[in-house]
Amino acid sequence: MMTSQHNQAAWLQAGSVPCEPMPYGRPYRLVLLGPPGAGKGTQAELLTRTLGTCHLSTGELFRAAKCETNPSPALRAALDAMHRGELVADEVAVELVRERSRCLCCRGGFLLDGFPRTLAQAEALDGILTDLGLSLDLVLNYEVSLEEVVARLSGRRTCPVCQKVYHVTTRPPRVEDICDGCGAALVQRDDDRPESIRVRMQAYEASTRPLAAYYARAGKLVSVPAVGTPGEILNRSLQVIKAQPSFATWSGQPVGKAGPGD
Ligand code: AMP
Repeated sequence: MMTSQHNQAAWLQAGSVPCEPMPYGRPYRLVLLGPPGAGKGTQAELLTRTLGTCHLSTGELFRAAKCETNPSPALRAALDAMHRGELVADEVAVELVRERSRCLCCRGGFLLDGFPRTLAQAEALDGILTDLGLSLDLVLNYEVSLEEVVARLSGRRTCPVCQKVYHVTTRPPRVEDICDGCGAALVQRDDDRPESIRVRMQAYEASTRPLAAYYARAGKLVSVPAVGTPGEILNRSLQVIKAQPSFATWSGQPVGKAGPGD
């Protein structure tokens, strides 16, 4: 398997953090759609390693911003919304992405995970890409049932130190509640609490699901059933990518096992 050489700090901190990835071949510019818990984060990591694209997650941006000692009022409001499981205001999400447009120009391509989440964000993304002289190649829509999503999210545990993701029944750590990798105590993400999961699913149904029709009209949408192991879902994702005539020079390799995530 190839190794990503992207510097996530360039995305998380914006500004002029150096990031000079070696492209694996053609750059892939992809969006991952799907409900919370569909496994987009895991697939993004695996696709990144396989295709050499950069994983750009707006959820990671907001989680990283939690550590800011002096957040702006807009950022504080965004973090409160996130804590409740609600969507952050469009202007805030769009501005964060706009500030990082350097990452969209990455010569390795990009894989947007968690953005866009509303029609307004999708239109804003189209505008940003047009200004940059770029366009999206494909939108992968991960499909999974509501019951499965709730089971996955409520059992998910995360290591706050190394970010490794576990599940209490399908991927438990060797010692209960302790990270196998670094020994830290595992935590449940604020927004994986049952009351937040309900709100997140409502936000998904009302605001994000309609994006599938938006991208279908643009001829960019492909569906990927998000059931089975992460490796199986990855191979399914690679199949649909490979099936695109514009990706005839596809340069990645299917890979085997991997862990769960969002
Ligand atoms: P995720 O890690 O993608 O599930 O995102 C976690 C949370 O961050 C979401 O439940 C929202 O509160 C917030 N968030 C992330 N991306 C966006 C976005 N594009 N628009 C609005 N809120 C977002």
